[in-house]
Amino acid sequence: MPITTDASIIELENGIFARLHEGLTNSGIIIDEEEVIIIDSLRVPSFARDLIKDVKFLTNKPITHVIDTHAHWDHAWGNEEFTTSTIIGHINCYKEMNDIEWNNQWRKKVINSEDPWSEEAKTVKITPPNKTFEKTLEMQLSKHKIVLHYFGKAHTSGDIFIHIPEINVLFTGDVAMNGLIPFFGDSYPKEWPETINQLLYLPTNKFMAGHGPIGSYDDLIAAKDLIQVLTSQIEKAINNNIEIDIMITSLISLMKPNYGNWKNFENLDEGIRLLHSKLKG
Ligand SMILES: [Zn+2]
Repeated sequence: MPITTDASIIELENGIFARLHEGLTNSGIIIDEEEVIIIDSLRVPSFARDLIKDVKFLTNKPITHVIDTHAHWDHAWGNEEFTTSTIIGHINCYKEMNDIEWNNQWRKKVINSEDPWSEEAKTVKITPPNKTFEKTLEMQLSKHKIVLHYFGKAHTSGDIFIHIPEINVLFTGDVAMNGLIPFFGDSYPKEWPETINQLLYLPTNKFMAGHGPIGSYDDLIAAKDLIQVLTSQIEKAINNNIEIDIMITSLISLMKPNYGNWKNFENLDEGIRLLHSKLKG
């Protein structure tokens, strides 16, 4: 399939596509009878324009909606390119994208990283969702039914899950990933275990996360276990007054057999430190 970049597009089922971009951020493309729905607009406008070009290789139908899985820059800073689409997000995602301090701190971080997109990040016009919801939002299209769920705070305060019940496909954002340790910097580790647990009740054959490869239901269970083991072990150590460096060493060796080959495992110590300070409160 001809596409603009080194991303790859995989048809999951019947007009539902995953656009995977290794080392960067994934997007979902849902093609219905009359329209296209995009999941995540990517990191800066030029990435969004590449995504739009790729959609045009697949279909001429208009992109009527963009769904933001959460407010993080690498998922939602392409929103400004979708001027004629409705942009949907959770109400907390809307709040985070309007939080000037939060976004300034992210913008500074992205600019200072001196990545190929850093220069462009200076001029991104952060564009929050213009349609929000709190618990559930059902979108009945001509062909597909899409159900958006919010189960509570997790990777951010406004993570949502996009489920397509007729084919058991799920889009999980950065809450549950296949083979990748998530970023914990803006997370809510007290709520994350319960939020991720809810995903197991959505019938799922395949899921696409915000990063990394497509996963199966078993991979979803592994992603849930990762969060539950990390948070419960850290809480246990806090309750037992165990010294943090000792806890980190033993927790990493506990996780290694199952998660040692996951991406970012080498930085898990930093992640544990972040979770520890958040859980200690
Ligand atoms: Zn994220």
